[in-house]
Amino acid sequence: MIKQPAALHIDNLVKRYANNVLALDHISFNVEQGDFFALLGPNGAGKSTTLGIICSLVNKTAGKVEIFGKDIDYEFSKAKKMIGLVPQEFNFNGFEPIEEIIAHQAGYYGIERHSAKERAAYNLNMLGLWEKRRSTPRQLSGGMKRRLMIARALVHDPELLILDEPTAGVDIEIRRSMWELLQKLNADGRTIILTTHYLEEAETLCKNVGIINHGKIIIDAPMRDLLDQLKRETFIFYLSEPAEQAPTLASALCTKIDARTLEITLDHQSQLDHVFHELAALNIGVVSMRNKSNRLEELFINLVNT
Ligand code: ADP
Repeated sequence: MIKQPAALHIDNLVKRYANNVLALDHISFNVEQGDFFALLGPNGAGKSTTLGIICSLVNKTAGKVEIFGKDIDYEFSKAKKMIGLVPQEFNFNGFEPIEEIIAHQAGYYGIERHSAKERAAYNLNMLGLWEKRRSTPRQLSGGMKRRLMIARALVHDPELLILDEPTAGVDIEIRRSMWELLQKLNADGRTIILTTHYLEEAETLCKNVGIINHGKIIIDAPMRDLLDQLKRETFIFYLSEPAEQAPTLASALCTKIDARTLEITLDHQSQLDHVFHELAALNIGVVSMRNKSNRLEELFINLVNT
């Protein structure tokens, strides 16, 4: 059986900017078809440079990039048509009706006017913007503008959708609705790559993760494997009744924050339900609990500092 080409194949990619900064130092990774892939890394790591090269907005110094088997050096326009990019910043004309914005974008991809209109209508409907089709971006809420960026990126029906920090600065409600939308697009078979600073986002959405630091890929792994590497996890427990002191637990380390709040740290082998059983046996009722910090973020900090 012939193996399907990867949605994205990057081999020994190098980028040295004119100021001699080596932004990418021979990076290689694949994103398989249908994947939901997170590209993570601290500021200045090389994420935007990588996305820029994939989308042919930045010239590479050396190396190979293929989109569904199409080499961007040799089959540039075929490769480009397979990608929809959602950039970080809004970059549309604030005064143009949004159905025109989308139809114009379709024009860039050589889609004829009448089918461009159809595509625009389809995408605006899918993204809940149909009622707003005659509005201009200036009249849209922040969340609607984000959806407009996605509607525009999808107008030529690309197989690979790339989003650069899709939920930067949006409130939790919009973020969750964006997540639902992206999950649906991925479930429909679209490969998605995103960068994010919200590590909970990567944890919720992504199947695989690449972590880039100082222009090198330091991790390329399934998200689950990465989370399994976490040694400890800390939870905050809110109690139904005040506790005089922190109970001693066999299954976890417990400290008291205040009369109704405990901090409970489990190592990776321990199970949360043992903690609940022990607390119940001690007649300590729990009203609610939360993760003290984002697990992936903790892991990320550990990786970058080692
Ligand atoms: P990230 O997106 O992970 O924050 P970038 O890809 O933007 O990282 O940057 C990687 C490195 O390349 C940084 O050191 C940055 O300063 C440098 N860099 C980015 N763009 C340019 C440019 N146009 N000219 C020179 N250096 C750049």
